[in-house]
Amino acid sequence: MSHVFPRHTKSDLPFAVKGQGAYLYDHKGKQYLDASGGAAVSCLGHGDADVIAAIKAQADALAYAHTSFFTSHPAEELADKLVAAAPGDLDRVYLVSGGSEAVEAALKLARQYFIEIDQPERHRFVARRQSYHGNTLGALATGGNAWRREPFAPLMVQTSHIAPCYEYRGLVSGETQYDYGQRVANELEEELLRLGPETVIGFVVEPVVGATLGAVPAVNGYFKRIREICDRYGVLLILDEVMCGMGRTGTLFAHAFDGITADIVTIAKGLGAGYQPIGAMMCTSRIYDAIADGSGFFQHGHTYVGHPMACAAANVVMDKLIKCDLVQRCSTMGTSLQDALVQTFGQHSNIGDIRGRGLFIGLELVADRETKQPFAPDLAIHKLIKRQAFENGLACYPMGGTLDGKIGDHILLAPPFILEPEHIDEIVEKLSQTLKQVLGK
Ligand code: PMP
Repeated sequence: MSHVFPRHTKSDLPFAVKGQGAYLYDHKGKQYLDASGGAAVSCLGHGDADVIAAIKAQADALAYAHTSFFTSHPAEELADKLVAAAPGDLDRVYLVSGGSEAVEAALKLARQYFIEIDQPERHRFVARRQSYHGNTLGALATGGNAWRREPFAPLMVQTSHIAPCYEYRGLVSGETQYDYGQRVANELEEELLRLGPETVIGFVVEPVVGATLGAVPAVNGYFKRIREICDRYGVLLILDEVMCGMGRTGTLFAHAFDGITADIVTIAKGLGAGYQPIGAMMCTSRIYDAIADGSGFFQHGHTYVGHPMACAAANVVMDKLIKCDLVQRCSTMGTSLQDALVQTFGQHSNIGDIRGRGLFIGLELVADRETKQPFAPDLAIHKLIKRQAFENGLACYPMGGTLDGKIGDHILLAPPFILEPEHIDEIVEKLSQTLKQVLGK
């Protein structure tokens, strides 16, 4: 009997024993094409010799030293690289162990900032429906997934949720893409005015929505309007790039595409590429200095902040992303994969939308393409597809998102940036086989 506490307590999972390139292998030697990089984590693929060597070297030199006593070369080097690569003036980096920790740190930093500048009445956040920001209590509160929050509702940080920018479902007939973006962005202003803007700390948002919607970028102009509204009311713009960041959407920071600057950004997943658990929260000097010149210390912390081995791995990941042009490769291969998907599934009667940016691509499943009617929730189509695809040797990330009470199913693809054309063929072929087995077409 396994004593590991799995996510689904009744699941019977194979043992993962090896990873090489774009493939994972189980204990029976079965091969799986890792078409979602786990959950958009493994951007370099598996078995990268350079990252492994850096981890080993760091372990030999120094595995751990507590950050209340020391800083370390790998942590300083990583922070320098992130600051040099980030848009705007994000020039302070807080290194944590994953995405939820990064978001949690962002929420607390933002609150502390307003205390330091004598605006303690700011105590709540605005975020979006159909978003995911992590599973710790603060991050969970900002996430828009009602079913995830519900059991823990009495424990939540105060957050209200507005509509996401979700063109496929939200754009009404006769409306231009731009006008749609402005309309949903303006919901932020309406919500701030309803709450009293002087009570709001920040707006938390994924530049490209990951797990809950399946790679949904905002339309042109949306984020510019969001930035204006935040500036107007003194609300911090907190961008959660835990899933869409680190090159996944074709630019190192996803929001560089939108031409905006952020006050706080969170990253994780691709930063460690699965080789080490690591995440980061970045903020501007305006925020940092308010704390440094005020109380002088961020009232937060974890034992493994700035872990040298995790930072050593992330340094090599960053080098590969930037110096080896892997971000560019992600963008090019993403276009090829999206083209191949459109060619094969563009007319499929159960695929309503194929969207995304870079190697962050979503396919939305519908019962009826014309009316966009989702599948009935109790069919749990996404689960059937996940299981069947896995059986066929394809690890992808189907999810059932919640949409105004209805369930919409989607498949998220986020393969490694080392993807080759033959992997694209294999993804399309195995997905096609899976849909035929599950949907009969
Ligand atoms: N934010 C976003 C946008 C995410 O996609 C996730 C993870 N799926 C998280 C935060 C939480 O990250 P972690 O699971 O590493 O805690």
